[in-house]
Amino acid sequence: MYCTKGHLSTIDYIYATLLEFEDYYEISNQTFPAVVGSVFEQKLLIADKQPKSARAMSLTPPTKNGKQAVFGPLILVANEGCDTSDYPSNTKGAIAFIKRGVCTFGDKSSAAGKAGAVAAVIYNNAQGDFGGTLGAPSKDHIATFGISNEDAQSYLKDLESGKTVDASAYIDSNVRETGTTNIIAQTKGGDQENCVMLGGHSDSVDAGPGINDDGTGSLALLEIATHLVNYDVNNCVRFAWWAGEEEGLLGSDYYVSQLTESENLKIRLFMDYDMLASPNYAYQVYDATNKANPTGSEELRDLYTDYYASKGQNFTYIPFDGRSDYQAFIVNGIPGGGIATGAEGVKTKEEVEKFGGVEGEWYDHCYHQLCDNLSNLNYEAWELNAKVIGFFALLYSIRTDKQLSW
Ligand SMILES: [Zn+2]
Repeated sequence: MYCTKGHLSTIDYIYATLLEFEDYYEISNQTFPAVVGSVFEQKLLIADKQPKSARAMSLTPPTKNGKQAVFGPLILVANEGCDTSDYPSNTKGAIAFIKRGVCTFGDKSSAAGKAGAVAAVIYNNAQGDFGGTLGAPSKDHIATFGISNEDAQSYLKDLESGKTVDASAYIDSNVRETGTTNIIAQTKGGDQENCVMLGGHSDSVDAGPGINDDGTGSLALLEIATHLVNYDVNNCVRFAWWAGEEEGLLGSDYYVSQLTESENLKIRLFMDYDMLASPNYAYQVYDATNKANPTGSEELRDLYTDYYASKGQNFTYIPFDGRSDYQAFIVNGIPGGGIATGAEGVKTKEEVEKFGGVEGEWYDHCYHQLCDNLSNLNYEAWELNAKVIGFFALLYSIRTDKQLSW
């Protein structure tokens, strides 16, 4: 979450630390427009009971008329509720019950709003609690909650057997325009026309402090930046600390959108470092192929896997599917990749054999929750991954221009 005291302090800390190396780095910050939301009060009742997992989505509007509770039958929406045709005609004045998946939470909220629902409840399609954001505000958004799949089961059973399930929803919230800030530091040395770039995000979700997600990436990058000053580089190295990642990759998206064509071409590679010390970790490498991504992505992927192998470590590939800040780079022609240690996915038996840890549990059981604090980290994984960041920053900084062109 940006604009909180914690996030502002994080940005200040990163900036102040970099300022000590002003001779080595050109440091800049980039403030961009963003929306910020606060949820002051919330209550969801379904069949007179409060689902334990109910949580208002970030950037949700309040319930109507400035914050009065709304009442209506819970209506089961067809498919994933991405299309207005998924909403039965009796959705008007009702509370829409929508399955997670296929489209964004914001799209679902809009579709429900257009169909005349007075509130929406999105239920998880996998195990565990979840929260999310509606993203960029829309006039069609309605007050929206998320609940767990477990909590949804009994309502689904009742609705599918044709029973009426009454519900009421109340959210007191606001959503407002503000600004937040990316921090960029680029070596003054090295070929300024050929840069290797690496980044993590300085913000967290508003549910928790985000120490693993992504304090681990942010802080490891900062530490590497303070050590790189002992080296001469052939290519410039550019570090980024993105803001607004959790609200929809806002900072990295804005940054790339502001690059002129010639500035875009100077960035030869982007490496993403998000969640490096999950307590039930796996060494995950984004499966970034040249077939699906800009050329150079696959070479980076293979170098990461070589690195883990050289340290006697196993690794797994994970989908390179746009869940972090690399996305804006690869869709704008810049090769990219990165590593992670796992979020809400469940660790398999094979992965326990490779990495140890607990089978059947999330890689990070505190993912996007209040407990993502200092006791949520696996320091062994963090240390090795910090070394990965350092090694790759240095590797690409000393490769010649010719080698950088793959
Ligand atoms: Zn993250």
